[in-house]
Amino acid sequence: MRSPHTGVTDEVDLLTSQKHIEQLSEEVLDLYRQVNLLYRLGDVFNAGLERHQICQLLIKESCKVLRARAGRVVLDDGFAVGRRVESPDSVLSVAVETLQGHIGEITLYDKRRGFFTAADEKLIRAVARQAGVALENSRRIAGLIEQNRALERLNAELNQIAQMKSDFVSNVSHELRTPLASIKGFAATIIDDHQMPPEVVREFVGIINDESDKLVVIINDLLDVSKMLSGHLNYQLAPRPLERVVEEVVTLLRIQAEAKGLGLSFERVDRAVVDMDPTRISQVFTNLIGNAIKFTDEGRVTVRQWVAGGEAHVAVSDTGIGIRTDLLPHVFDRFYRVENVVHTKEGTGLGLALVRGIVDYHRGGVDVESEEGRGSVFTVHLPLAGSPAPEVG
Ligand code: ADP
Repeated sequence: MRSPHTGVTDEVDLLTSQKHIEQLSEEVLDLYRQVNLLYRLGDVFNAGLERHQICQLLIKESCKVLRARAGRVVLDDGFAVGRRVESPDSVLSVAVETLQGHIGEITLYDKRRGFFTAADEKLIRAVARQAGVALENSRRIAGLIEQNRALERLNAELNQIAQMKSDFVSNVSHELRTPLASIKGFAATIIDDHQMPPEVVREFVGIINDESDKLVVIINDLLDVSKMLSGHLNYQLAPRPLERVVEEVVTLLRIQAEAKGLGLSFERVDRAVVDMDPTRISQVFTNLIGNAIKFTDEGRVTVRQWVAGGEAHVAVSDTGIGIRTDLLPHVFDRFYRVENVVHTKEGTGLGLALVRGIVDYHRGGVDVESEEGRGSVFTVHLPLAGSPAPEVG
């Protein structure tokens, strides 16, 4: 007879063969029926129970009959279902095997000498065999459940990426449309109004110029991310003082911070020479400090540089809106914008992905700490020039 429940049928066939059954006593047969029933139930147990729980259940239930005879029943290898008897005079021990090999023993102990019979041994072997098969099934089903979970996780990730891409397309369209509408509006007004005083024309052209700059930044970010993905982003590495680049960015962005009434300061604790492409590293700090200003309405943005453990560290701290803890792991993902979940500010979700890509290229790292409503700290770590390359793998 072939059990429909398992792929592991040989052992069951062995047990159910007529010859074998005939050799078993009534007591053994009774237990065998119980075990067999449990073994089938094992498929149900498999769904929700851990390996050792199935094993314990099987052994516990099927040893009820044995218990009546034996003093103690123990499954070794951690799955104890009873206590060891102190200095037993009778011991009956049977290995539990799965396809993986030996996984434990069912051992019966009794204080009385010569207590266990040949029938007991057959019976306990039947239990051990069934336990082995059920455990094997459990292992396989656990593997399938794990595979299934992995597929579900993958599927959820793919859905999330699809959603992020679609959010990205609408963000980028919006980001491009706003300055374009402004450029078009001001240009049309200048063309239509022949009497416009020259100072107003100059003011409008200034606005058109600023809005075009915004377009250039977005388009450059898009091109950079696309180049980074295809491994074609160019880097010109040479040893340079890091503080010079950071200071330049701070000076450039100070006007932007002051326009929002925010303080922006740079504290250089240590000087640091780093092998870098200054244009790219400048892009890193423009993004981080730009974000700090963008997401802060009150207080200040502080940039601090120091050296420790063969690395230069630059922390950009703000007193802004902060980031929810559960969203923190995603902020460096391409296209990811917390705004899509929480708030609404301009942006494409490409800045931090670029930051991470550039910093990685420089053999460094970037991490973030944040508290919602209190502010965020983004810290960039870069190896000092001449420091050995980290071992790969
Ligand atoms: P974006 O173009 O949207 O600013 P980024 O990749 O630069 O894209 O940032 C991803 C997201 O991380 C932002 O949309 C924002 O929600 C969040 N974020 C980044 N920096 C800060 C910060 N200093 N404070 C609060 N949130 C931030």
